[in-house]
Amino acid sequence: MSVLYFVYLEGDVDTASATTPHSTRTSPRPRQVHTITDRFSLNSTYVVDDGHLVVVDPGSDLHVRQLETYLHRFLYRRTQDIDLIVLTHLHPEHTAGLASLLRLCHAPVAASSAALRIAQFNAGERHFEPDITHLARSVFPAYFSPVMLTNSSYTQQVHLVDTWLEDKEGLPGHADWRVLASPGHSPESLCLYNPFTTELLSGDTIVIAEERTPLLRSSSSASRRVLEMTLHVLRTLDIRYLYPGHGRALLGKNLLQHALVR
Ligand SMILES: [Zn+2]
Repeated sequence: MSVLYFVYLEGDVDTASATTPHSTRTSPRPRQVHTITDRFSLNSTYVVDDGHLVVVDPGSDLHVRQLETYLHRFLYRRTQDIDLIVLTHLHPEHTAGLASLLRLCHAPVAASSAALRIAQFNAGERHFEPDITHLARSVFPAYFSPVMLTNSSYTQQVHLVDTWLEDKEGLPGHADWRVLASPGHSPESLCLYNPFTTELLSGDTIVIAEERTPLLRSSSSASRRVLEMTLHVLRTLDIRYLYPGHGRALLGKNLLQHALVR
């Protein structure tokens, strides 16, 4: 047995079904999200099971192997049953295993349309106009600087994406799940929110910091302003289950009341 597999067995395997009795008391519908992570919750991959399967952020090749095992062992499903793959953003620690996953299933890959526009900007095909969001556009010019947008990973990874997601639309084939543009951590960041189960998949828009505090981490004063607006929008939602890209999931009411932006 490899060390990595041992980490998986000792890790935080959070089954939605295991908490269904509790969740039915506090939300109108049972939660749908399963967490696949390591014992330190350094990086998480999520599976939404609403009858069909959605994988959110495939993570590394190791995560993909864990995912395959998890589907088989806990959900009695196969990777071929995956209906959709969603990338909350294109940073490598969440997308490096995508090619491996695509060898195991034929699901389409979806990401924010902002990533496509960034790639087109990098290729000189168009001027980037961040029309992805309900957030005030006046904030963006300083944030979306050419330096920040010139990133070869965008150009490479957009070729793996089949479906471009727009702000406030339903997830294709999974209309209970809403796409929320949440720029700040990266221009193309998005969250997925289900108002019926009160679950939020935040990607790296929100991570969990010390003492289990939600944290929106900025890289500049401009991105901090964008993140503050993203937080303002997210605070309007009834979120009882928060699933971050890094750190353990949070359960409870008013989860973002004491969220930090720094
Ligand atoms: Zn990231």
